[in-house]
Amino acid sequence: MPELPEVEVTRRRLEGELVGKRFAEVVLRVTKLRLPVPAELTTILPGLKVMAINRRGKYLLFDCEKGWLLVHLGMTGFLRLLNGAAPPGKHDHIDFVFDDGQLLRFHDPRKFGIVAWLTGDPLLHPLLAEIGPEPLSADFCSTYLFAAGRNRKVPVKQLIMNSSVVAGVGNIYANEALFRARIRPDRAAGTLTLQECIALAAAIREVLEGSIGEGSTCRVAEETVAYYPLIFDVYGRKGKPCRGCGEPLDEIRLGNRSTVFCRSCQK
Ligand SMILES: [Zn+2]
Repeated sequence: MPELPEVEVTRRRLEGELVGKRFAEVVLRVTKLRLPVPAELTTILPGLKVMAINRRGKYLLFDCEKGWLLVHLGMTGFLRLLNGAAPPGKHDHIDFVFDDGQLLRFHDPRKFGIVAWLTGDPLLHPLLAEIGPEPLSADFCSTYLFAAGRNRKVPVKQLIMNSSVVAGVGNIYANEALFRARIRPDRAAGTLTLQECIALAAAIREVLEGSIGEGSTCRVAEETVAYYPLIFDVYGRKGKPCRGCGEPLDEIRLGNRSTVFCRSCQK
């Protein structure tokens, strides 16, 4: 599943390529992804210019003068930029053609992505209105995290994966951040000290920024965006030696998601 760093890397890449260009044509080959794809995109978008490309959580928001094109990659979606027409393959559901001939293609085998058209303030749209602060913004800090966990029995890993608490911290990055902060993923959120929240907020930022940084450098050579550039300390390493102490890593399920951690390093 594309996580926040991949979406941000995608945003930066597309911003560099598409801002200032106008849509020439939109080709829809599906009527529905996770939500219906508005047929009106084929008539609304041609002629409109891309003013900016923003991100909120894992949603991309293309500012298109008269409204916003919202794109979410779902479980298996990705956006591919092509320098001209190419025959669509299986699962290539939508083509956005630009006035210079460039083509942005939305590919999504499982069709859990979303493509929508928003008018008015996009941040008030029901899909976006409940999303918590951006983890890389100043709004997300240790005191905020500490307050959000007060009197909560929910495991800290599930707290930080709750998008209404903080936007876009998916399973991989939650595992990695908790290892860095030396906090057991199944600790009740309310037991975290302010000191631990300082470490955890910093760790979340570090794993996300680290991944965005690596992604940006590798990305240019590739046509597709779905890959995980981070070298993982714990995610997917059950039974392998902890990089801190050498003991084998443990795995438990939390919220039905794989949770790998070190029993000796994480308390
Ligand atoms: Zn360890």
